Amino acid sequence: MTIKSGGNPMLGLIMNRQLTITSILEHARKFHGDAEVVSVTADQPLHRYTYREAFARSARLANALARLGIRPGERIGTLAWNDYRHLEVYFATSCAGFVCHTINPRLFPEQIEYIVEHAEDRWIFVDPAFVPLLEALKHRLGCVEGFVILGPAGAAANTTLRNAVDYETLIAGEPDTFDWPALDENSACAMCYTSGTTGNPKGVVYSHRALVLHTYACLMPDVMSLSAREVVMPVVPMFHVNAWSIPYGAAAVGAKLVFPGPKMGDGETLQRLIEGEGVTVTAGVPTVWLALLTHLDRTGKQVPSLRRVIVGGSACPRTIMEEFERKHGVHVHHAWGMTEMSPMGTFNSPSADFDTLSSEEQWAQRLRVGRPVYGVEVKIVDAAGKELPWDGVSFGALKVRGPWICAEYFRIGKGDAHDDEGWFETGDVATIDRRGYVAITDRTKDVIKSGGEWISSIDLENTAVAHPAVAEAAVIGAYHPRWDERPLLCVVLHPGEQLTREDMLAWFEGKVAKWWVPDDVVFVDGLPHTATGKLSKKDLRERMKDYRFP
Ligand code: AMP
Repeated sequence: MTIKSGGNPMLGLIMNRQLTITSILEHARKFHGDAEVVSVTADQPLHRYTYREAFARSARLANALARLGIRPGERIGTLAWNDYRHLEVYFATSCAGFVCHTINPRLFPEQIEYIVEHAEDRWIFVDPAFVPLLEALKHRLGCVEGFVILGPAGAAANTTLRNAVDYETLIAGEPDTFDWPALDENSACAMCYTSGTTGNPKGVVYSHRALVLHTYACLMPDVMSLSAREVVMPVVPMFHVNAWSIPYGAAAVGAKLVFPGPKMGDGETLQRLIEGEGVTVTAGVPTVWLALLTHLDRTGKQVPSLRRVIVGGSACPRTIMEEFERKHGVHVHHAWGMTEMSPMGTFNSPSADFDTLSSEEQWAQRLRVGRPVYGVEVKIVDAAGKELPWDGVSFGALKVRGPWICAEYFRIGKGDAHDDEGWFETGDVATIDRRGYVAITDRTKDVIKSGGEWISSIDLENTAVAHPAVAEAAVIGAYHPRWDERPLLCVVLHPGEQLTREDMLAWFEGKVAKWWVPDDVVFVDGLPHTATGKLSKKDLRERMKDYRFP
């Protein structure tokens, strides 16, 4: 039975207020003005002020940008760590109608050059640490009028960058109010390029509406669950997908924000900030937590206020979850998303029947990346595009759609990943269980095809790193004359540890299907990573291209 179309639908009689980042700024300024923002920066070991002061300085910056003649929709680049000045740039640019284009300083210089020129950034705000990186490119970045060094007065004195000015001098003397323009919620507010391992990076352009809806969704109790009583420390960089939107969410609810600045990978600083500032929730990729856990182990220091850690960006090994929970009473939430998804796709919080599950069933649920956050639709499909069942074992290409998912790329249009029904193919391979919990088993390009059957490299890597001697592991498909491909395990051991090939392979027995056990192990000193810290299987395959199974 279908309802006839046509006729005049009755419209809702509700105000059509635009969903803009400015509404977050105004709300935070009025209701959470006293909440604190604490930062480590290159020039200040511990800077402390309030949202009220942050937004007054954002207004000063907006006045300065208007004075520089920036026009609506123009891009302002940032190459910066997580700190208060970067926060001010986020809000000043987006709320004034410009586009905050965050650039990952870990990209290769030629990629940075490509990105800046493709986005046509007019000014770039740069942390002193990244000035040499831009100085090496300065004859090329023709579109950029000038550079703002994110430091104190005098910070621009020794740079050879053209039209360089330090941040404090730029905003000094400007009024600390700004007549924020009324913006269309569909206008662009921020931009981030994908750090794909193939081809040029592609620009994802976020709209005000998308990021406001994403902020609402992330604040929900079964998602990040932020509130005025939480102290949140984003260890995920602000140069990567808006630090998973934490700066917007924290401001919207008035959570105290703690920024580790250039010390994101430093376990000692992270512990000191958690203890000193009473951090209750933090978020980042798995590798930063290894640094923190190792430091806690070595020093016996504690993280007494910390209750939750959100881990995403790469598969979170069970060992990290167990260590946080057993030793420190911290709950780890696994999450999944991507640059094209603003980034939140799924978030792992317990199902209603969680307490009735056995311990192993609970772990099986917790190791999955969680259920789609309300707003995100998902499906898995086979090679012919047919939808696969949610039985927890069938795996296929993961497709998504929703109001904060990239519809097309900047100056490219729809990519190969966009289909005609409005779905976006993530490039990930996944299973979905009957409760809707997604598990990422691979990147489409990394899946190992053994005799026509698929083997999950991520499952094998997680099994390998659970071995106490193993620091990091990567599994790739290597050529096999009979099976086409078989899994090859590459392992980095912890310093001082020793392990034989046979011991390593014996570790898989009973933990994965027999035919999944890798055919060989290669011990290596290190593994290649991408600019966002993920394993670069493409580079690893290149490195191992002459490998042949014994
Ligand atoms: P990016 O766009 O650089 O943030 O990368 C997004 C990709 O990272 C996803 O498509 C996944 O392949 C991977 N990823 C993100 N979160 C997870 C996770 N929790 N487990 C496994 N892979 C993940």
